[in-house]
Amino acid sequence: MKNTQGSTQKIKVKSTIVEIDGDEMTRVMWKMVKDTLLLPYLDMALEYYDLGLKKRDETDDQITVDAANAIKKHGVGVKCATITPNKDRIKEYNLKQEWKSPNGTIRAILDGTVFRSPILVRNIPPAVRNWTKAIHIGRHAYGDVYKNQEIRVPGPGKGLLTFTPENGGQPITLTIQDFKGPGVLQGIHNTDRSISSFAKACFTYALDQKVPLWFATKDTISKTYDARFRQIFQDEFEKNWADKFNDAGIEYFFTLIDDAVARIMKSQGGILWACKNYDGDVMSDMLGSAYGSLAMMTSVLVSPEGYFEYEAAHGTVQKHYYKYLKGEKTSSNPMALIFAWTGALKKRGELDNTPAVVEFAHKLEQACIETIESGIMTGDLLKVATSSPKNKQVYTEEFIDAIANHLKKKL
Ligand code: NAP
Ligand code: MG
Repeated sequence: MKNTQGSTQKIKVKSTIVEIDGDEMTRVMWKMVKDTLLLPYLDMALEYYDLGLKKRDETDDQITVDAANAIKKHGVGVKCATITPNKDRIKEYNLKQEWKSPNGTIRAILDGTVFRSPILVRNIPPAVRNWTKAIHIGRHAYGDVYKNQEIRVPGPGKGLLTFTPENGGQPITLTIQDFKGPGVLQGIHNTDRSISSFAKACFTYALDQKVPLWFATKDTISKTYDARFRQIFQDEFEKNWADKFNDAGIEYFFTLIDDAVARIMKSQGGILWACKNYDGDVMSDMLGSAYGSLAMMTSVLVSPEGYFEYEAAHGTVQKHYYKYLKGEKTSSNPMALIFAWTGALKKRGELDNTPAVVEFAHKLEQACIETIESGIMTGDLLKVATSSPKNKQVYTEEFIDAIANHLKKKL
């Protein structure tokens, strides 16, 4: 878009986007992406939160809480990867304490579910050749085996499951096993509230992406526990989503988890797969690797109220950052970071009813994909791309510049 003076007129993003900065190599790439691919073309109102580890430490992590609340206020955020501190990081950054995972804190405040989906390009074929469309995955991130109690049973005895009502009612006790010798015992739980908000987030995301929703449990075996998940999804669907899904031409499909896995292998993709906590943990890593590179995996946190926070699925790419600090150039891949921005821009444009913003985001995504399909790519992709004499590994800056060239031709 050129104005009369011949200079490019910026596209106005109407409402505020919450920008959450992060750490290490992703922080470096974040700035490059903004400076080269966004700020020259967009007039954005950004509310900036610096979640770099230093700032989190200075503010006793209040900045993380503020950032989450800002997303609640404005509806759409975009987040860079952040360090979750451990013992080594406490020393490295001289921290006051081992601050909690920022993603965990934000997820708890927004009560959100994380959805991941791969960026597809023609010259990086998925390991499963019929997966021509993206398989989006949503993982329930509360309870089950991740919040369990376990006992190493030393010898013969009774393993019991007891619930004691708070209001003084009769306790319920079941025998899990009459142990004749040593073994193991485990207790797990979930809550209607958490399952229900997971279900709401899944229906929200499927409708947003216009893809069918698959959900699977093992309710033939777990007739109370897994059956409860199935029932809550079914009730939520019938009560709040059936008509909307019908209008959008998408379906809600429930099946057994083993059947779902078998069907996924034969499918073309183009679905949202909602997974219980453990299934999602395992399957999201399988999908990530099957689609080529962690740097091509995008991620969005969706709250049941419909707030959206976009990010890359990968971490801060620490090893590349140490090279960068030594003054070496790296071939780190900014694709998922760029798509976090385009995701936020598309959502903002949709909510604000500003099609020019949505269109810009689409063009930027297209420019990224064309760049890789022309053979220009970062090192992680070169390892998995279809071999071609055109393939060339470039440094991050060169890759972003190549994208900018493709983008300019489209505007
Ligand atoms: P990582 O940053 O995802 O990187 C693991 C490896 O994957 C890298 O060493 C690199 O392999 C490859 N990789 C990941 N992203 C890449 C990219 N964009 N371009 C090229 N290669 C890429 O995971 P990590 O090293 O285990 O974690 C580093 C830090 O990130 C930790 O402090 C962790 O707490 C944090 N983290 C944050 C988030 C988040 O904020 N969402 C998520 C996960 C981890 P090569 O070294 O072989 O090139
Ligand atoms: Mg995992």
